[in-house]
Amino acid sequence: MSRIEELAANLAAVRERIAKACHAAGRAPDEITLVAVTKTFPASDVRLLAELGITDVAENRDQEAAAKAYDCRDLDLTWHFVGQLQTNKARSVVSYADVIHSVDRERLVNALSRAATDAGRSPRCLIQVSLDEAGTAEGGRGGVRPDGVLALAEALSAAEGLRLGGLMAVAPLGADPAPAFARLAEISDSLRAVYPEAKTVSAGMSGDLEHAIVSGATHVRIGTALLGGRRAIVR
Ligand SMILES: *Cc1c(COP(=O)(O)O)cnc(C)c1O
Repeated sequence: MSRIEELAANLAAVRERIAKACHAAGRAPDEITLVAVTKTFPASDVRLLAELGITDVAENRDQEAAAKAYDCRDLDLTWHFVGQLQTNKARSVVSYADVIHSVDRERLVNALSRAATDAGRSPRCLIQVSLDEAGTAEGGRGGVRPDGVLALAEALSAAEGLRLGGLMAVAPLGADPAPAFARLAEISDSLRAVYPEAKTVSAGMSGDLEHAIVSGATHVRIGTALLGGRRAIVR
């Protein structure tokens, strides 16, 4: 099987899973944006996915993302940044990312705001929420605790150059994702009560997209199920 045939088959299977989950939840499949997480895969795969109709692509490391976005600059893609983000990378990320899913502290809001204003860009920013019981410290995957979401939303909505888009979360490792995504839906409700425009709920990956869709996810971030297994990355 050629790579494009393989990707096409994977994409059809993922779309089928999304359609089934939407049907079960009484939602329309077009409420869900499928974001292809292409980290560790080459720009040639991004190109093939675009050919197959993918419009949204995500990366989690700035260096890799910047190079791929540059390679694919002729394609009309929406680039998402989903990795933990250091303030010294803000300038670079803002130069190509349309949506930043991993905003989890005020210092980062300030750095992104300065970078966006200087570059004349206006990325949509999602607040990454930590759904680990213990809060952000143990999980190591980033994210603000639920009780810090509104304060960060206030900072984001006031920040020049940035648009508050909503929330992002990763289900806690090794735990049932259903209660975590239900909690995320509650947090999204209280956020939208104050900021009605903050509609995005980015949740669900290859292993748990059905749970995320039942709980109201608007964006699912799918890597493995679309592109295949990744080799372990040594940092
Ligand atoms: C890698 C990654 C994904 C995709 O995970 P899969 O299990 O491969 O679908 C989604 N979200 C984030 C933040 C990621 O880093």
